[in-house]
Amino acid sequence: MNKPSIYGLTLDQLAAWLAEHGHKKSRARLVWEGLYRSRVTEFTEMPELKSECRALLEEHFAIQTLEEHTRQESADGTIKFLFRLQDGNLIETVLMRHKFGLSVCVTTQVGCNIGCSFCASGLLSKSRDLTSGEIVEQVMKVQLYLDSRQKGERVTHIVVMGIGEPFDNFEHMSNFIRVIRDHKGLAIGPRHITVSTSGLVPKIREFADSDLGTNLAISLHAPNNEIRTRIMKINRAYPIEPLMEAIDYYLEKTNRRITLEYILLKDVNDQPEHALELAQLVSSRRHLANVNLIPYNPVDEHSQYQRSSKETITAFYDTLKKNNISVSVRLEHGTDIDAACGQLRSKQIQSERGRSAKASRAANE
Ligand code: SAH
Ligand code: SF4
Repeated sequence: MNKPSIYGLTLDQLAAWLAEHGHKKSRARLVWEGLYRSRVTEFTEMPELKSECRALLEEHFAIQTLEEHTRQESADGTIKFLFRLQDGNLIETVLMRHKFGLSVCVTTQVGCNIGCSFCASGLLSKSRDLTSGEIVEQVMKVQLYLDSRQKGERVTHIVVMGIGEPFDNFEHMSNFIRVIRDHKGLAIGPRHITVSTSGLVPKIREFADSDLGTNLAISLHAPNNEIRTRIMKINRAYPIEPLMEAIDYYLEKTNRRITLEYILLKDVNDQPEHALELAQLVSSRRHLANVNLIPYNPVDEHSQYQRSSKETITAFYDTLKKNNISVSVRLEHGTDIDAACGQLRSKQIQSERGRSAKASRAANE
């Protein structure tokens, strides 16, 4: 049987586990330092740990469970990793370089059941949730890769915007955050972590009530229910009104800023009247909301959608600005390496399926 990754445990959970198995809680600190400071990949590389303790950990946990399948580097320095999980599934993780540091975009599920009509990840329905260990390990794999280049680079920011809906995997997503923000470990501050959701209303409230303290981004993508339901079927379950109420609850509870993501789709939601309607929707929350306009990354299978022109994006931006809405346009990373959400993975899976279909046709001939 496959052993789970030890990265899935917080320091407290590890200490409790050790105590349950007859070891001193304080040993957890040694293990933790080995994992996140020395960044060892084998328990044998923790010589300061008593050998029985090492053997016990080895019996129950693995450190590494992901295998690098592909790594693609873009001209702008973005690196996209495709990892194979122990069960054979493929996931992707992206490293992006910014002026303010290095960010990693992590995947939370194998596929996604929300099925937004413009997204590559939703093409393949969810086969399972990732464990918190598998989510932490994506960050560790990238950090270890950076370590191997010996330039002293460190992952400073995390965006939970890869494949999957993080709020549909709430427990593992929360544990992941608790592990990576721990100041004795990777120490990635919660203000440097952003979780994006398609708008699962009850979970937004649960998130507001939690102690996670990270930034929150909402995939709004439309100024009214008619358009939102057309492009995001989740809007049937959680239309804009309850979504805005949950956002207001979050703002009131946390007094933190929120990002409203808005993909611009040519002739669907990018017209001046849409910008005005969006401004109206956001206006009462304008002091705590930033609209992030996202140029659409075309997906082969969703040919009904095209990217808006530069002029249209500028006009949309200007209309929001004129209406005193805080707005930014997302810089793109790695468009030459299919860095849009789920694209590399879906291409890889399709080519593998193509190969196996060919192989079975050949076998039947
Ligand atoms: N499931 C979560 C997080 C992952 S998607 C969510 O939907 O928020 C992260 C972001 O990428 C979302 O805002 C999503 O709408 C956006 N996205 C998906 N497909 C895209 C594409 N082809 N081009 C640009 N952005 C895309
Ligand atoms: Fe899932 Fe987010 Fe893609 Fe929608 S945009 S299908 S919620 S990953």
